[in-house]
Amino acid sequence: MDIMYTSTRDSRVKVTASQAILKGLSEDGGLFVPQQIPALGVSLHDLSRMDYRETAYTVMKQFLTDFTQQELKNCIDAAYDSKFDTEEIVPVKAVEGAYYLELFHGPTIAFKDMALSILPHLLTVSARKNQVENEIVILTATSGDTGKAALAGFADVKGTKIIVFYPKNGVSPIQEKQMVTQAGANTFVAGIDGNFDQAQAGVKKMFSDPGLEQELAAAGYQFSSANSINIGRLVPQVAYYAYAYGKLLCNGEIQEGECINVTVPTGNFGNILAAYYAKQMGVPIAKLICASNENKVLYDFFASGQYNKNRPFILTSSPSMDILVSSNLERLVYRIAGNDAAKTAALMEELASGGVYQISGPMKEALSDFYGGFAGELETAQAIRGLYEKAGYVVDTHTAVAASVYQKYRETTGDHTKTVIASTASPFKFTRSVMQAICPSCTLEDDFALADELSKLSGVEIPQAVEEIRHAETIHHTVCRAEEMPAVVKKFLGIA
Ligand SMILES: *Cc1c(COP(=O)(O)O)cnc(C)c1O
Repeated sequence: MDIMYTSTRDSRVKVTASQAILKGLSEDGGLFVPQQIPALGVSLHDLSRMDYRETAYTVMKQFLTDFTQQELKNCIDAAYDSKFDTEEIVPVKAVEGAYYLELFHGPTIAFKDMALSILPHLLTVSARKNQVENEIVILTATSGDTGKAALAGFADVKGTKIIVFYPKNGVSPIQEKQMVTQAGANTFVAGIDGNFDQAQAGVKKMFSDPGLEQELAAAGYQFSSANSINIGRLVPQVAYYAYAYGKLLCNGEIQEGECINVTVPTGNFGNILAAYYAKQMGVPIAKLICASNENKVLYDFFASGQYNKNRPFILTSSPSMDILVSSNLERLVYRIAGNDAAKTAALMEELASGGVYQISGPMKEALSDFYGGFAGELETAQAIRGLYEKAGYVVDTHTAVAASVYQKYRETTGDHTKTVIASTASPFKFTRSVMQAICPSCTLEDDFALADELSKLSGVEIPQAVEEIRHAETIHHTVCRAEEMPAVVKKFLGIA
């Protein structure tokens, strides 16, 4: 059965998977969603026998039905290879009563690699399938991790250019250095004087600007997106939840069919939406625990049914979750509205104009799969220190938000269902905050010296991704205001 994709804001839209991947965002401003969520198509027993690549193929082929078997297998083999520092691709570690799904073993040591190491391949196959002649310009806003992972994924990929905008003062020093030192003649990076939401809004605006589209086309370019609004990022992420389940079953940690909970540190709602899709496919998942930092818009939404972005934007130690407009939530809103595009469009219009929307009673009931929680800065640091002191296990700040929320969830609900925590970054990506939590007296100025210290304390080798930027030259120097983003794009592309 072919899965077609429609827009969350216009039910007349119907495109193939490859067309949805190419376009990134629908012209009406909506997100592409599968018309139905396909079933897993294999038994849980069979799932438990699969390695990562086999699981990825099993899951992705159900969504990307216009890819041939060979095309999809080639994409998977090219993505999940020795770029990852472990044969398993995503190890599952049992620590202190939870299972940490380590999604950070890729080239840029954050979970974004899981999708962005395969997206360039999905995109170039999609371009070929649809006879696209233009060069594809990947336009991306990043809260820190997407930028580097996309740059690494697309660097020197033929037929593509990649442009990344990041909030100049809203990312960690290591994150920034990773981006501004990126090599590759087709890579462009600019910091903006603003926060992530402004960067994301600027990018979305360019996507739905017909004038700009024409200017680009005249110069032989077309935009696509590497943000988690692209369905080509979401689908690869569904795979690791199926893999985690199979792994626990294979290791005898759970019985076949036993439900697990999943806790996800959340920003743009992409990662946890992938877990929701995995559940809809038939992976036995009970609760989806959505963990926020002090920017707790989602926590408030799950508690009250009201989404309200009108609040101060707080810079925290988990910058990749410093987000007030979680784009992918629109895909969930669409599902719980009964796949009603008109209703979704109306709610998103309210969000755009007044910054608030309220969902109705039945929609709110449909949210019962989710549980929202949040952790403050102190709790996050305590979670890092607690895991280090009790188990010698060091987690990054984002994962710590999830660990803290999960611990509170277990205490308040008494639900002891076995739980997978999505571990989204290496602690070496957020060395300063991690070291402050576990060794407040280590007050070194230099982030790399701190990384050396962290390595000694944790017994974990410094990842290659950190070593390679230690002495790297800054290549990208552009800084601009949010209003200047279109002009910067044109300058990068050499369009007058
Ligand atoms: C992007 C990111 C998140 C948030 O993921 P979403 O899919 O945007 O919800 C959490 N942790 C880290 C380390 C990230 O890079």
